[in-house]
Amino acid sequence: LIRFENVTKRFGDNTVLDDLCFSARKGKHVTLIGPSGSGKTTILRLLMTLETPDSGTIQVNGTRLYPAGEKERREARKKIGMVFQQFNLFPNMSVLRNITEAPVRVLGLSADEAEERARELLDLVGLGDKRDAKPAQLSGGQQQRVAIARALAMRPEVLLLDEVTSALDPELVAGVLDLLRDIARTTDITMLCVTHEMSFARDISDEVMMFDAGKVIESGPPEKIFGDPDHERTREFLGAIA
Ligand code: ATP
Repeated sequence: LIRFENVTKRFGDNTVLDDLCFSARKGKHVTLIGPSGSGKTTILRLLMTLETPDSGTIQVNGTRLYPAGEKERREARKKIGMVFQQFNLFPNMSVLRNITEAPVRVLGLSADEAEERARELLDLVGLGDKRDAKPAQLSGGQQQRVAIARALAMRPEVLLLDEVTSALDPELVAGVLDLLRDIARTTDITMLCVTHEMSFARDISDEVMMFDAGKVIESGPPEKIFGDPDHERTREFLGAIA
């Protein structure tokens, strides 16, 4: 379970998250939608400990992330993996090394163990033949699949996906979304996903949360939110991006 309780986050006098409460149950696939600037990415960055909340509590499967001591925070943080819009691969490392680096450094796996896992994951994402390539030699779609493999190599309980297809050429989007659909179907990883791909959101989500001005204004199953939303703001937002 991911739980945010009364979380407030400000940048200067801009209150980005305003006393936010929500939870995502274990193994569920939750999609965050809402206008630009409504705080969706900030939620993922808080979970990655790339930002710190001003107040409130955040916990991940029973372990506190905030407020928490250093040790507990590290434990909570280890449960989470993230895939970014811009891939963020290490440019000077091979594909294989991109995937083995964190399991060796952070989880303490041996080089052989990490490599075996990386090879399996590269097969899973369809890039078994690219393990010695450098990221720059791959297409955007291939780089994003490596980033997905890299996140999975840490065996996360929670996978955060931030607009993972928005930097891709249109013809590469479907392959990445198909891979994520497969992962959603075949694993019990909790997914928290920020996306503008509404058909993907409709497909994989157990729950959709509509954000506006740092609050969840409505949430529910995708059929409800996309088919018959209660809120005028949700209707406007979905109308504007349709
Ligand atoms: P988008 O869909 O455009 O990515 P979002 O809903 O993900 O939007 P956030 O990226 O969470 O929104 O940003 C929410 C607000 O916080 C924006 O007004 C943004 O300018 C501000 N913000 C985010 N990060 C910082 C930062 N490091 N310093 C100052 N302001 C920030």
